Amino acid sequence: MKMLDTRLDMSTAIPSSMMDVDLTITWIFEHVMRNNGARHVVSRLDDGTTFRYTYGDFGKRVAQLAHALVELGIKPGDRVASFGWNTHRHLELYYAVPMIGAVLHTVNIRLFPEQVCWVFSHADDKLVFVDASLAPAVANAMATNPDMKIPFVVMGESDVLPGAQTYEELIAGRPETFDWPSIDEKQAAILCYTSATTGDPKGVLFSHRSTVLHAFGAGLPDALAIAQSDTVLPVVPMFHVNAWGVPYLVPMVGANLVMPGPKLDPKSVIDLVNDEKVTMSLGVPTVWLAVRDTLEATDTYLPSLKTLVIGGSACPPSLFDDLAKRGIATVHAWGMTEMSPIGTLAALKPPFAELEGEARLDILQTQGYPPFGVQMKITDDADKELPWDGKTFGRLKVSGPAVSKAYFRVDSNILDDEGYFDTGDVATIDAHGYMRITDRSKDVIKSGGEWISSIELENLAVGHPAVAEAAVIGIHHPKWDERPLLIVQLKAGQTATREDILKFMDGKIAKWWMPDDIAFVDGIPHTATGKILKT
Ligand code: AMP
Repeated sequence: MKMLDTRLDMSTAIPSSMMDVDLTITWIFEHVMRNNGARHVVSRLDDGTTFRYTYGDFGKRVAQLAHALVELGIKPGDRVASFGWNTHRHLELYYAVPMIGAVLHTVNIRLFPEQVCWVFSHADDKLVFVDASLAPAVANAMATNPDMKIPFVVMGESDVLPGAQTYEELIAGRPETFDWPSIDEKQAAILCYTSATTGDPKGVLFSHRSTVLHAFGAGLPDALAIAQSDTVLPVVPMFHVNAWGVPYLVPMVGANLVMPGPKLDPKSVIDLVNDEKVTMSLGVPTVWLAVRDTLEATDTYLPSLKTLVIGGSACPPSLFDDLAKRGIATVHAWGMTEMSPIGTLAALKPPFAELEGEARLDILQTQGYPPFGVQMKITDDADKELPWDGKTFGRLKVSGPAVSKAYFRVDSNILDDEGYFDTGDVATIDAHGYMRITDRSKDVIKSGGEWISSIELENLAVGHPAVAEAAVIGIHHPKWDERPLLIVQLKAGQTATREDILKFMDGKIAKWWMPDDIAFVDGIPHTATGKILKT
């Protein structure tokens, strides 16, 4: 049978009568200044003191910073780096740099010294803003490459970087308004490098448009659902994928923002939540596991805290219940640098809202479904799309206006024939659209031709009361190719034997998924972004 050509001739379409407003960070900023100027930012500094101001006053300092950058010769397209914790000054850089058309390169402070120099040089940074407490780390990095010369601005007081100006000197006395240039929404605004576990880090360049659209999608009611009445504490760092978009989304909706600075130990986080009446916070599981342990050990409550968004690595199932007992709802999220970063969140769809117990936990524990703006599919190795049946594993691929189509200064195609980006994760998707990561494609354990999910084994092991953290790696096996080895770090002062843990796991997973052995270690290494380092 001859196929009918259904492609339409679009040459007769007509333009709309709507305004051409570019979706830019300046547009968010102007909205905040007009509408949300009285809401506030709290910033805890290196020395433990707290700085507070309104978004209105924030806007004046953003203008002052923009004047300083222009006077220092920063031009549209130039990269300006930041090396800092979550603070009000970092927030000012998030706006001033892209709003003069330049690109803010947020450097991950946990990179090795050589990698820090490598990214400064790859990005061709013209200027670096460094938190005073991190000046020694930057000095160490620079010592690895004496030929490299970049001017520094110190945020705070430090004499470790000779010749560096301080941030406050730089902006003092400058005009508090700026005639912001008009910017093409597709222009680059932020540069963030992925934390490579092998090879060099790869740069992802977010545009103004992708940043605005990401904030819109992430802010929707079944996504981060942030409202004016919220006070939000991003524990997730601004030096890694824009702190999940929070520095743009929170001012945009007019919620208060609490910047935690460098102290992220459980007591500091708990005190900050209670002192500032934080209603919502976001971060990786390791921070919240430690907070949970301290809350339980000291029988402390966080009465203001309603929601905790956990992502960056799989959220251990035990956290959902433990936090729910303290009145805190946990929302599991998944994403990656190349996605700006939010990809999915596990809100309960209407058929599941009334579920309780295990059935409810089963859904909350998935990585969730995408907010508007992200599309997903799973495929086999030959790019054939796989069914959404909740059972079939496949390569997870994504597309959308805030998903990367290339890496900065790398000349290779990273999309498939349909324009989807391969996340490197392996997942199932069920009939309701809930996605479950079963592994990183490089971490999955291939035993006798079948796949074993290292993440599922890790989650199960962490459910044992004596286990602080667990990692599963594949070790070579002459018959099965690979078999799982469980590596366990026990909680301080707790004991458990190999047999105790295996008995705890037995019956909860298929027999052939059971680890062949358990190794006990004093500490499990992490990558620069807090993920378990399996190499
Ligand atoms: P990054 O680009 O450093 O943010 O790392 C992204 C990767 O972190 C993803 O591709 C996943 O492998 C992993 N990841 C992020 N969130 C989750 C999650 N909720 N569950 C499991 N893995 C996650």
